[in-house]
Amino acid sequence: MGVGERYARRIQEAGAVPTVLLPPESPEDAEALAASAVERMDGLLLAGGYDVDPAYYGESPAPGLGTVEPLRDAFEIALVRAFRRAGRPILGICRGAQVLNVALGGTLYQDIPGHNQSEPRPQATHPVFLAAESRLFRILGGVRELAVNSFHHQAVRTLAPGLVAVAHAPDGTIEAVEAREGAFLLGVQWHPEWLEDEASRAIFRAFVSAAGGHLPAAEEGRRG
Ligand code: MN
Repeated sequence: MGVGERYARRIQEAGAVPTVLLPPESPEDAEALAASAVERMDGLLLAGGYDVDPAYYGESPAPGLGTVEPLRDAFEIALVRAFRRAGRPILGICRGAQVLNVALGGTLYQDIPGHNQSEPRPQATHPVFLAAESRLFRILGGVRELAVNSFHHQAVRTLAPGLVAVAHAPDGTIEAVEAREGAFLLGVQWHPEWLEDEASRAIFRAFVSAAGGHLPAAEEGRRG
């Protein structure tokens, strides 16, 4: 199973029908394409990928900045704003969590050490500590600590207005953000699509549930 297919598979497992959006051919078309997507889709999953152009948070490229994809940045930032305006749920994973924060007015660290593991993707390598009373805490069934994988060299620096940090790594790195209020909006810095534990599946189920999806009967039975 390919890297991209993993996300779609987990969405499908959670009872929804995944579709893929391609960025526009020109940045001027990003807004219109995002507006069209929000009319047709119940929720937005932002996948992992390259670095967000620091120009979006008012900075010049710093040493350690990796590849940027201008069209993808423009499109995903327009998508976040459109889905947020429409009250539709958003799940951001890794780069997706960073895009969420930048699109809503936050900033990033352009290069941090210690979070790009060489171990295989399905292997957890550091814990995260969850904020009680958060949506993520409830989704995960009330655990305060979770073992996660780590494939990032950037991280949230300043939180966007309206977002709150709900999970931290032992070194203080923000590992999850969510919206204080309004529609479901969750960003996780790790890759739950590669982890096989129940908590990771619960994240996708919560997102699909927020999008109005229906779990297959067999899944409902297994949940109880
Ligand atoms: Mn990490």
